[in-house]
Amino acid sequence: MARTFDYDLYVIGAGSGGVRAARLAAMSGAKVGIAEEYRVGGTCVVRGCVPKKFMVYASEFSSAFESAKGFGWSLGEATFDWPAFLRAKDIEIARLSGLYVTGLQNAGADIAHARAELQDAHTITLSDRDRALSAEKVLVASGGRPTLPEAPGIEYVITSEEAFQLPQLPKRILVVGGGYIAVEFAGIFKGLGVETTLIYRGANILRGFDNDVRSHLTMEMERRGIAIMTGCEHAKIEKTASGLKSTLTNGHEIETDIVMYCTGRSPHTKGLGLESAGVEINNKGAVVVDRYSKTNVDNIWAVGDVTDRINLTPVAIREGAAFSETEFYGRPTSFDHEMVASAVFSQPPVGAVGLTEADARHQYGKVDVYRAIFRPMKATFYGGSERMLMKLIVDPATDKLLGCHIVGPDAPEMIQMAAIALKMGATKHQWDSTCAVHPTAAEELVTMREKYVPPELGGMPS
Ligand SMILES: Cc1cc2nc3c(=O)[nH]c(=O)nc-3n(C[C@H](O)[C@H](O)[C@H](O)COP(=O)(O)OP(=O)(O)OC[C@H]3O[C@@H](n4cnc5c(N)ncnc54)[C@H](O)[C@@H]3O)c2cc1C
Repeated sequence: MARTFDYDLYVIGAGSGGVRAARLAAMSGAKVGIAEEYRVGGTCVVRGCVPKKFMVYASEFSSAFESAKGFGWSLGEATFDWPAFLRAKDIEIARLSGLYVTGLQNAGADIAHARAELQDAHTITLSDRDRALSAEKVLVASGGRPTLPEAPGIEYVITSEEAFQLPQLPKRILVVGGGYIAVEFAGIFKGLGVETTLIYRGANILRGFDNDVRSHLTMEMERRGIAIMTGCEHAKIEKTASGLKSTLTNGHEIETDIVMYCTGRSPHTKGLGLESAGVEINNKGAVVVDRYSKTNVDNIWAVGDVTDRINLTPVAIREGAAFSETEFYGRPTSFDHEMVASAVFSQPPVGAVGLTEADARHQYGKVDVYRAIFRPMKATFYGGSERMLMKLIVDPATDKLLGCHIVGPDAPEMIQMAAIALKMGATKHQWDSTCAVHPTAAEELVTMREKYVPPELGGMPS
């Protein structure tokens, strides 16, 4: 006789990937349960993308006030009320988390506000009840966690988890790391009037992005007054009467009120009982899955950051949706991880899709590069010195666009549109045949005709 289960699907983790998968599966008529140990919505809604974007919005006002003067505005002294911002942010996050709960309930999914642990491939225990439950299929969507390196005094630092709830805005902050979260928070704090220093042990911030993007953003962040030190890390962190003293490996000593580490995240696989269920984990702690997000155990799947593929919300959502399409709607679907655009909400922001110039040269040998660096119209009017960067990488053999990289206002909005063209395999000729929208910065993207040759390949420095 076939075994009966309490649930057709049990999902561990109600973040971006888990919620989408659970909701779709429940809408198919399946009996679905989902456990969340913290707050429904997960990292993105509660302590990631969404509250971070609110902080970016809040912090951008300071430069807007500055540029407003050039347009004839005179403003009184502007002050920022951090507790008032936090209250407004928390109300909006609670509203959004509530929408996720309602969406799950309306679809018919059971929500457990508890920690889930696998006892074996079909048995799950929840921290809020004694009886174990059984599920035919299990989806692990437990996300990721910030990681901290070993360093003397590391117990004094905060990560992004705490940054959203600081009781008061610091006067001075040291941000550690060169990834997108580090540069975003450096921009946020600087914009809110905090004296901001960023240190990174590598040679250049934003590893993995195009080299022109990396150097352009460094220049623009420094122009906005963020002190950036690369090639160094902490030797030690000590508590003093007035803050935290950081001694760096380059000999510098800096005192700040807060030290914030953004040095990476790792898949959240500890304590999930994955070993008891026989699920394979790689040497980075990520659940190993195939293109359908299936693990080595026949009834267990995993999506999102816990699989450490592309750690972005829309990717987790698409992986979760593909899983439910495949398993509950009979339509085998796998998410295509190629040409996924990404944005960095630094100030100025970055948008990127496709290959960097270095990767394209590595893969294709010869590539054509089109590059524009210019002062946007708004800056020329009010006398700002900031510059925008736009760059296209093209395969000369096929004329296909391989990469598009933008640094400057609205870059994340532009890259979403550019990603459609690149994903469709557009050629530079088709791209250029698109008429410009005027007056915009984006029109520069479709009017770049001159090939750019980098100085190291014999071109003129620009
Ligand atoms: C500061 C920050 C900014 C970010 N900004 C962006 C951005 O701008 N754009 C973007 O696309 N991505 C961004 N991300 C990444 C994005 O948040 C993640 O890629 C996304 O949330 C991954 O979704 P997920 O479903 O895999 O995991 P999560 O959203 O992390 O959800 C996992 C959930 O599982 C729960 N959980 C874990 N273990 C258990 C258990 N045993 N029992 C019950 N519940 C459990 C956790 O509490 C969590 O709620 C950001 C991340 C951070 C940290």
